[in-house]
Amino acid sequence: MGKQVRVTKAAFAAVTGALLCSTAALAQDDGLRAAVSEDMPELMELYRDLHANPELSFEEHETAARLAARMRALGFDVTEGVGRTGVVAVMENGAGPTVLIRADMDALPVVEQTGLPFASTVTATPATGVETGVMHACGHDTHMTAWIGAAQQLVDRKDDWSGTLVMILQPAEELGEGALAMLEDGLFERFPKPDYALAFHDAAQFPAGMIGYSPGYALANVDSVDVTVRGIGGHGAYPQTTKDPVVLASAIVMKLQTLVSRELSPLEPGVVTVGSFRAGSKHNIISDEAKLQLTVRSYTDEARKLLLDGIARIARGEAIAAGMPEDKLPVVTVAEPYTPSTFNDPEFTEGVMAGFRQRFGDDRVMQVPSVMGGEDFGQFRRADPDGVESLIFWIGGVPEEQWQAVQAGEGSLPSLHSPFWAPDAEAVIATGAEALAGAALRLMPASGG
Ligand SMILES: [Zn+2]
Ligand SMILES: [Zn+2]
Repeated sequence: MGKQVRVTKAAFAAVTGALLCSTAALAQDDGLRAAVSEDMPELMELYRDLHANPELSFEEHETAARLAARMRALGFDVTEGVGRTGVVAVMENGAGPTVLIRADMDALPVVEQTGLPFASTVTATPATGVETGVMHACGHDTHMTAWIGAAQQLVDRKDDWSGTLVMILQPAEELGEGALAMLEDGLFERFPKPDYALAFHDAAQFPAGMIGYSPGYALANVDSVDVTVRGIGGHGAYPQTTKDPVVLASAIVMKLQTLVSRELSPLEPGVVTVGSFRAGSKHNIISDEAKLQLTVRSYTDEARKLLLDGIARIARGEAIAAGMPEDKLPVVTVAEPYTPSTFNDPEFTEGVMAGFRQRFGDDRVMQVPSVMGGEDFGQFRRADPDGVESLIFWIGGVPEEQWQAVQAGEGSLPSLHSPFWAPDAEAVIATGAEALAGAALRLMPASGG
């Protein structure tokens, strides 16, 4: 996912201070942190290997196979090939709720420039047909490693929990298609259906080890819309003989700006961005077509419908105003499937965070603003909104040194998807493994309560 999360400087400073004082007594010490830390050398080895061998969306064959083998060795009942390259690992451990923990596996078509000794040199040819480098530029390698770390802890502590653990490795998060592919392949029918679903994502705007969360809508509906604006071409010196699609498409672009500002409630988030506008071939030719590519963001189904209907209506209306005949009105296409918004059930979220506050201390757990980025984790709750409560949270990944430098006004932070994104993987993985295992233990108490 491509997202930007922002926290105030004061909040950052508070968190950094807390991390600097991390030798202070743990808020809650049930031995989990020490156990995770014992596993860290081996987990970091796994992380470096995953980082050096990234695979693109729906191509995660090696990644899936090696992690599936590890889960089998831990005693999970493992099924591969769910939703193409997805993996489902189930452990039934007595009566109690079913908890799903998800990690995503795919990397991005990005040429790595971190300079890390274990940087990826992998190349691949994605659907675009152009060969590219491949990089875990979104940190999914940290997610997978923490997921393994959590699994190890939960297997070691089988006496401490009672219920069913469903650990899944999801393909193609970056396409927004992998979660749906697993669901359509029977994730909730062939395997125990979860009462709770959990995941985390690393964050490029928080210091390493900080946990951020947003109750309610956390990430947005993401729609890609193509608008083909048709015109009647001709000589640039004789516009009266043409219908200029550049002028028409420009009018559409400007009118689209009124959707969020004039039609959507001021209290409802929405974004309509025209990211691409292409037309024409030469100075003195009026072309017969212009193409617009839009990204449209919203939280609710209602806002999404308002924006998408509005785009179609404005495109059509502006074309009619320009005098285009009925058979040459714009063609508006909304890409399927779209990425639905991610909703963190507020009560469930606060419950898990209460556990995190006890475990990590108040200073490391912070409510943060929601974002208009997308993440297909929302699909799992959406498949059964009354049955599945879900939560995705952030774990900060900015290394201490880099953090201090930026605080001092030197340099800037790379975002997720940047070729320079090199998180403090050790902090992300240790925090992630402890957080996921700790949340699962809390949700599936051994008393069966
Ligand atoms: Zn991403
Ligand atoms: Zn991601």
